Amino acid sequence: MVPPNIAAAAEVIASAQRLVVLTGAGISTDSGIPDFRGPNGVWTRNPAAEKASNIHYYLTDPEVRRAAWRQRLDTAVWTAEPNLGHHCIVDLQRSGRLAAVITQNIDGLHQESGIDPDLVIEVHGTMRDTRCLDCGDVRSMQEALDRVRAGEADPPCRRCGGIMKADTISFGQALIPEVIDRAFQMAQTCDVLLAVGSSLSVSPINQVVPTASRHGAKVIIVNGERTEMDAWAHHVVRGSIADVLPVLVGRRPR
Ligand code: NAD
Ligand code: ZN
Repeated sequence: MVPPNIAAAAEVIASAQRLVVLTGAGISTDSGIPDFRGPNGVWTRNPAAEKASNIHYYLTDPEVRRAAWRQRLDTAVWTAEPNLGHHCIVDLQRSGRLAAVITQNIDGLHQESGIDPDLVIEVHGTMRDTRCLDCGDVRSMQEALDRVRAGEADPPCRRCGGIMKADTISFGQALIPEVIDRAFQMAQTCDVLLAVGSSLSVSPINQVVPTASRHGAKVIIVNGERTEMDAWAHHVVRGSIADVLPVLVGRRPR
């Protein structure tokens, strides 16, 4: 079903000169990667899973780390492909008006879809790399997974022997100030902020919405459910991303 206010929202996108898109886990559910808080979200179905992504347990409990590596071996992300929602954002890039994609996602699907990696701001990191929690050494995730497959249940850092993890920001871990600053800078200088597939409940990144609005940008929110920032939006378009985004970006229906 196409929501009634979609035409007005599409006009805002059509006349934008400097677009910033903010995405959350909802844009990847059509690629087969579950979100956290949606109706079929990982945490909605299993509240205990929230604990497993806490850095404290990861650092102190080797069994939590071994389980995390086993899980990384066959996560849906390795076989997932970008979906229509991702491709609609590529359309915006082709139009020459896309300034940045700020994403909370760690799946790397924006880059896979063809977005210039320099335009993607991954505020919660990426699971396509590993990082040593002691010396900071960054390597490809596939290299670590090869070691797990070869029998190392919790592969230590090759450089210093420290504990390695996906290069993501777990709960209890600090965000990277330069990355967050860049996201807010983009929010302050865009003329339209399009937020897609996020409950907008994770702080501080949800604050890019009021920040953009206070700096004069128009805000459009596309999500299946209400979000915590709906009050800041010029248009809240509620519906499925695959239905809404093609219309919003002016892509011809297939
Ligand atoms: P969230 O789970 O809090 O919210 C996702 C929102 O998207 C929900 O409100 C849901 O109703 C909506 N949604 C899901 N599928 C949709 C669809 N097809 N059409 C329209 N709406 C849809 O996600 P969040 O706000 O990104 O916060 C979750 C945190 O978890 C992030 O910080 C992120 O780092 C992490 N995460 C990432 C991934 C990923 O990389 N794909 C997946 C799960 C969680
Ligand atoms: Zn190290």
